[in-house]
Amino acid sequence: MNNAEASPDKLIVIPRSQHSISRKSISDSALKVLYRLSKSGHRACLVGGAVRDLLLDIHPKDFDVATDATPEEVRALFKNSRIIGRRFRLVHIRFGRDIIEVATFRGHDEDSAKTELDTHGRILRDNTFGDIEEDAIRRDFTVNALYYDIHDYSVLDYAGGLQDIEDKCLRMIGDAATRYQEDPVRMLRAVRFAAKLDFEIEPVAVSAIHEYGHLLAAIPPARMFDEMIKLFHSGSAVRVFELLRHYDLLKYLVPALDEWLQDEPSEMMLDFIDQALVNTDSRVNSGQSLSPGFIFAALLWPVVHQQANRLQSDRRKMIGALAQAGETVMKRQVRHISIPRRFSQMARDIWTAQPRFHRTQGKQPLRLLAFPVFRAAYDFMCIQAMVGLFPHKLSHWWTDFQLKNQVEHSTERKPAQRPRRRPRRNAN
Ligand code: ATP
Ligand code: MG
Repeated sequence: MNNAEASPDKLIVIPRSQHSISRKSISDSALKVLYRLSKSGHRACLVGGAVRDLLLDIHPKDFDVATDATPEEVRALFKNSRIIGRRFRLVHIRFGRDIIEVATFRGHDEDSAKTELDTHGRILRDNTFGDIEEDAIRRDFTVNALYYDIHDYSVLDYAGGLQDIEDKCLRMIGDAATRYQEDPVRMLRAVRFAAKLDFEIEPVAVSAIHEYGHLLAAIPPARMFDEMIKLFHSGSAVRVFELLRHYDLLKYLVPALDEWLQDEPSEMMLDFIDQALVNTDSRVNSGQSLSPGFIFAALLWPVVHQQANRLQSDRRKMIGALAQAGETVMKRQVRHISIPRRFSQMARDIWTAQPRFHRTQGKQPLRLLAFPVFRAAYDFMCIQAMVGLFPHKLSHWWTDFQLKNQVEHSTERKPAQRPRRRPRRNAN
């Protein structure tokens, strides 16, 4: 049988003595939430990516909790909490910069007026509560449907996820085609997990991507932004990009780049994209900050560069041409992914800063150094230099120059640290 179906008789319980998840690797905040829920008489489990990652010996990005307590009951137990979400109501509990997301077990009620579908079968709103087994089969992939029960520290597997972790297989719970129709973003999630975990997507889920990829065109641009960031900030952006191209999904995210790629792209620009993604991954994996503005600047650069060159052959007038091309390209892009203005502006500033790196005389370099996007624009220029799109000698000059002027640079006022933004959970 290809499709995993969950039923209580298939429940596999792995006692604490037989799995590798230790409480030491679970965040204090998550443990607090789990224990308080449990002490108040509720069922409380760690679920989703955290259980999957801990079993794979990967440090989880975040800790999600599932419980039989309703959002209101959770809210009443934690002062530092708030209910969020419309499509699916969740509770966010804040501990300093840490946010623990608590979801009430979801059920499935075909007749329920609470499950709203659109004409493609996409679930718009769903607030039916259920028990843990029902909750398990509503999740996307079997490896994401494992529960760590705080009551006895066992791992509960309702959908065969443990075997799939062993086999490095990404298997959809239920019929892949139906599950993609309910929520097409699951196709992007498949790509993300396949890349991040180095798993194979099961063949039926791959063919369903070919068949239903087009449904991604109807996803609201705000949700596409969240997913885009998760894809490219996953620490596996190089592989994500390869898979998006392989499954022909790039056109729903960055259509202009997809078209450029079809059209005999220059080797140097291809190397540029590749190198920008390599840098992105190494920044993420070494805990350095990364702006979505930089990702969009890099992915759209071949298109912006090409259009600016068509507008203007005189290099001295390149800033204006880049500004114009950048505006046109960005206008089209935000129809697919709603990029918050600060990020789209950053991308445009990075582009128009590039010709300024050719100027090393007079006051120009110090002026560029004072640009708010200098650091990102400089990194961008260095990547261009690495692949032969910018003179090496000049890039070395800038490296020396900004090092010499680092004192002034480092005294720049740093913005106050804000709590880590926890993206909304995108489950249906
Ligand atoms: P990450 O490491 O990126 O946090 P994750 O698997 O935890 O991966 P989240 O987006 O945090 O992913 O979602 C938490 C869990 O919620 C998932 O593991 C999955 O069980 C469930 N889930 C999230 N999005 C969906 C979806 N679109 N459809 C079904 N289940 C989903
Ligand atoms: Mg998660």
